[in-house]
Amino acid sequence: MSCPWIESRAKKDEEKTLKYGPMMWELKQRYNGYRVEQYNVIIGVLGGYSKHLENKMKEKIRKEYNRRVRLILRTELNGRNKIEAISSLAVPVPVVQYSFGIIAWKISELKKIDTKTRKLLNMHKMLHPKADVERLYIPRKDGGRGLIDVETAFKTATIGLDHYLKHKEGQYLKQVLDHERSKAKNSISKNATKFKIEVTMPEIENREDKSASENAKALKHEFKSKMKSMKEEKWKNKALHGQYPKILEKPHLDTVTTNKWLSSNLKGETEGLLVAAQNQAINTRNYQKVICGQQVESKCRMCSQHEETVDHIVSGCEVLAKTEYISRHNNAAAYLHWSICKDHDIEITDKWYEHEPETVMHNKDSNITIMWGMPVNTDRTITANRPDIIVKDSVNSTCKLIDMTVPSDRNIALKETEKKSKYKDLDLEIQRLWHIKNRSDPCGCWCAW
Ligand SMILES: [Zn+2]
Repeated sequence: MSCPWIESRAKKDEEKTLKYGPMMWELKQRYNGYRVEQYNVIIGVLGGYSKHLENKMKEKIRKEYNRRVRLILRTELNGRNKIEAISSLAVPVPVVQYSFGIIAWKISELKKIDTKTRKLLNMHKMLHPKADVERLYIPRKDGGRGLIDVETAFKTATIGLDHYLKHKEGQYLKQVLDHERSKAKNSISKNATKFKIEVTMPEIENREDKSASENAKALKHEFKSKMKSMKEEKWKNKALHGQYPKILEKPHLDTVTTNKWLSSNLKGETEGLLVAAQNQAINTRNYQKVICGQQVESKCRMCSQHEETVDHIVSGCEVLAKTEYISRHNNAAAYLHWSICKDHDIEITDKWYEHEPETVMHNKDSNITIMWGMPVNTDRTITANRPDIIVKDSVNSTCKLIDMTVPSDRNIALKETEKKSKYKDLDLEIQRLWHIKNRSDPCGCWCAW
């Protein structure tokens, strides 16, 4: 079967070559030593058909994409905004996505673009060289960094386009679909089927009450979430990087709060380092020995007692416990104290890190008392009588005992139980002495990450 578009385009190409032939000859004579080439850009519905032109276009798109990524990475934006800018200014419509369905991209070519992006992120210290690749492309609310990969964008666009062509009424669209189906390579419909099989996606029913574009959008959404689950699964199945997502699944862990830091305004470098540490990809002695297979001492260089792993450095080293862990605990508790004071309209400094908690603070009406590290006088002897913060509300007759701890992710449940039982006696005594009606659980537990 002959294709009317191909035939007409070939005719146009011939026409243009003949038309500008004499001019090309003239130019070659005039600019001796220069290479003079003629490109007939004939973009019909089906776009660039010339292989040569197509390669030129691909190169141009790649260059423009990399230029934009570089420009974004050189800005002063924070880590989250940089990733968002790449996903909204480089990947979508203006650059790469515009060519989907017109230029026959190979998946390997798109993968190279993604690799190049990661290299650029790496050069700008946004991504640790050993950090997890899948995690980079998982949404921030699920613990990832929310970058859009060109490969997924292409696959999603192809599936959406295929669905639209199949279900949208119109004589020309039908002809486009026939032509696409007849193609041996890079056919939209064949590619769409292949991509759907890859993620084991069932055929979704076309809803008659919705337009073709709405149906295509729903399909694209479904495909994207399938791709996301595949990436998450791949991340979880990794022996080392997968330990963190497995912890996130534990029932005692609040995933939303745990991943909240990824939506804050941290610098790209800080964010990259923290993510690498969570992936246990930092160059610790244990990593050098076990993962890299080097002949090195794997014990901690501070205490020489335990294996030097990320977990140990962050929350298990006895030497660091005496200095670094204490100052971390005090800083975190001071921030909490500052936030509580702020909530009750108590006068405080603008910057939390300049806040120096006073032993006892009151709000304007003196019905809220906030105590900082103050022992509670009790009738009977109670050893654990000094939680970090006590918030006493005399109007509502409530009292909150807050004790801060910064354990490793693995120990959160254990620490929570420990704290609750440690302050149980004090809690009962306070209820009796201060006539507290509404008791609150003595607890305040933060994770190390
Ligand atoms: Zn140690």
